[in-house]
Amino acid sequence: MIEFINVEKTYGNNVKALQDINLKIDQGEFVAIIGLSGAGKSTLIRCINRMHDITGGSLIVDDIDVSSLRGKEVRKFRKRIGMIFQSFNLVTRTSVLKNVLVSFVPELPFWRKLTGVFSKEHKTKALTALDQVGILDKAYVRVDQLSGGQQQRVALARTLAQNPDIILADEPIASLDPVTAKQVMNDFKRINEEMNITVIINIHHVEIALEYANRIIGVRDGKVVFDGKSAEVTEEV
Ligand code: ADP
Ligand code: ADP
Repeated sequence: MIEFINVEKTYGNNVKALQDINLKIDQGEFVAIIGLSGAGKSTLIRCINRMHDITGGSLIVDDIDVSSLRGKEVRKFRKRIGMIFQSFNLVTRTSVLKNVLVSFVPELPFWRKLTGVFSKEHKTKALTALDQVGILDKAYVRVDQLSGGQQQRVALARTLAQNPDIILADEPIASLDPVTAKQVMNDFKRINEEMNITVIINIHHVEIALEYANRIIGVRDGKVVFDGKSAEVTEEV
């Protein structure tokens, strides 16, 4: 479970990006965070894996006080949390398979990172993850030969290969056309339902959020202004 208790985030420039956030998100939920640009969605998501440090309150993930983690502990904690970005963050001039294998790099000895030698076990894990998002046939294709939707699936496979409990996705469909966006949302939905992975997505397409997520959290000026089932959402949010 992810629990925000009176969480605040004030950036160095005194911008209060989050104020008074109280939320509980259970394992296996599919949550969409909606709100206008600048509302605090990205900050909210990025506090969960300590990409940002909160400045007040506490944030607890499965009994771990996230703010108390130091150095190595942060890295270990982040392994359980997959992160997906709008910009995919892939190495475009190399193969799909290598991009997924990169998720194992932190646990490989240095010489292996240099030579790009991976164990059979890692390769099998990577191929399984590609299969889970329906792009196994693209394993040996260079990333820059793929469409945007396919690239986002590679990013999703790279995340799945680490066996995360939670996937955070910061505007994952913002740069995709509507048809591709829905395919990617279907992948998230399937992963959420079949693997019981908690999925938390920032999204500004309200209709798509309502169609796929089970729970909607509306954010405005750094505060939660709505939290409920998709069916309860009104135009006001
Ligand atoms: P959203 O994801 O909803 O667009 P953000 O979380 O990115 O909102 O931003 C919330 C507020 O915090 C905005 O006013 C934004 O300008 C500010 N902000 C975001 N990141 C930083 C940062 N690194 N330093 C200072 N202010 C920031
Ligand atoms: P956006 O596309 O939302 O602007 P970026 O692509 O700029 O986000 O990514 C923000 C930063 O986070 C980058 O420097 C990236 O390398 C880093 N990053 C990537 N993956 C992770 C992760 N799993 N945990 C923490 N930081 C990450």
